[in-house]
Amino acid sequence: MSAPEAIGIVGAGLVGCLAALAFAAKGYEVTLFEARPDPATVDAGQRNLRSINLAVSNRGLRALKYVDEDLATLVLEHVIPMKGRMIHDITGLKQESQLYGLNGECINSIDRSFLNDILLDELKKRNVKVHFQHKLVRMTNVDAKPTLETINAAGEIEKYVFDYAVGSDGAHSQFRYQMQKHMRMNFTQEYIDMQYMELYIPPDPNPQTKFSIDPNHLHIWPRHDFMLIALANGDGSFTSTFFSPWSLIESIKSSKEFVEFFRRNFPDALGLIGEQALKEAYESNPRGSLMQVSAYPYNSPKGKTIIIGDAAHSMVPFYGQGMNCGFEDVRVLMELVDTHKGLSQAFIEYSPARKADLDAICKLALANYHEMSSNVTNVWYLAKKKLDYTLGKWFKNKWLPLYTMVSFRDDIPYSRAIEIEQSQARTVSNLQIGIFTSIVLYGVFQVVRSYDKIRS
Ligand code: FAD
Repeated sequence: MSAPEAIGIVGAGLVGCLAALAFAAKGYEVTLFEARPDPATVDAGQRNLRSINLAVSNRGLRALKYVDEDLATLVLEHVIPMKGRMIHDITGLKQESQLYGLNGECINSIDRSFLNDILLDELKKRNVKVHFQHKLVRMTNVDAKPTLETINAAGEIEKYVFDYAVGSDGAHSQFRYQMQKHMRMNFTQEYIDMQYMELYIPPDPNPQTKFSIDPNHLHIWPRHDFMLIALANGDGSFTSTFFSPWSLIESIKSSKEFVEFFRRNFPDALGLIGEQALKEAYESNPRGSLMQVSAYPYNSPKGKTIIIGDAAHSMVPFYGQGMNCGFEDVRVLMELVDTHKGLSQAFIEYSPARKADLDAICKLALANYHEMSSNVTNVWYLAKKKLDYTLGKWFKNKWLPLYTMVSFRDDIPYSRAIEIEQSQARTVSNLQIGIFTSIVLYGVFQVVRSYDKIRS
């Protein structure tokens, strides 16, 4: 029996860990490299500084199930389902629930580091080698025997040779850069004029209530140019994120001004976060930037290396699909592996098979900022949404709102979801034109009739 083929994966984030599990399950010998230290050795207080909770939805769950049904069950035991958005008005007194699904479907809030930890634990159980504090600095023989050069904590360079290599080292991927030096890979990177800052809403002091606002909604304070959102954590707290143009946050010159800004725009959220905590957050919490990255093709010409997850397609977080899409990358790639004798062919076929869908979700993610920050309070949008949902209820599976297709229908590729939405939008427009024309014709008819009456 020949030795299993060896795969080196760079980046033990969410996508890299899932990919490592998937390749290991197929019998490949997998080695994972991660620049950061092993989270098990890092002080919990320090890790929480940038712990974001994420929304995992059907596409992500389907990929987890594909890799390991028990793992998906374990994840689902630790999520907080969110059945809709809760819109907070500017007075801080009114909240309005807008359901996500046609039939009570939910997206699910989960702690990012918890998810990463259970994937890493699973890798340990399966004896997958994980080298922490091994940062990729160079890759050679990209399309032959990929050779990864890493630098460890002691500053030593180590070399590892593989049959195949996978880059899942995030938006600022070194792996992608190394591939680009050896092949014709198109690449764009675009910063969006938006910063994000994480804030913390503590658990309700009353242990009976635990949560100070409804945990089963994604809370949104939409204010057009800027917005605040909050997702529940298992301990009763919420992770809240403030999104705004850079010029806005930079125009706020002190923590006192920040508190006043919140008092004017998010009075109820200010009460939940607390003035002192908000002042401290202003002084010390990092401000993240948002960007879109796209690359093509994702594989090297002979199919020896490939990029997946944010390394291939970083998107803005407004559709809650970045990780879900990265997990879907793993499933789509593995299904190609299932249908081919060798990995190379699967890698080569992956790029054209996946491109339209990755382009589609990046576009949708950007467009969804306007939906979350503005449209959710617009009467025309809400009326159209209502019509969309009513038609969805009447014509089950024949009429599907876009959000349903993206978040709950993992069998509809992202690009197909856009096509279906466009065709449905044309039908709604035609319906609107039809209704409008009927009203006008009826009006004209009434005028002519009354004119005839006067004459006779
Ligand atoms: P990453 O998570 O970036 O992991 C890359 C890993 O590679 C890291 O561990 C890094 O340390 C390591 N690495 C980097 N360089 C090297 C190197 N040279 N050598 C070795 N290792 C290296 N997605 C959702 O699906 N739902 C959401 O609700 C959601 N909310 C979000 C909210 C915010 C504010 C943001 C910013 C993103 C959100 N996302 C969400 C997107 C999601 O976080 C990403 O899509 C996802 O983390 C991508 O995973 P990844 O493994 O590809 O990359």
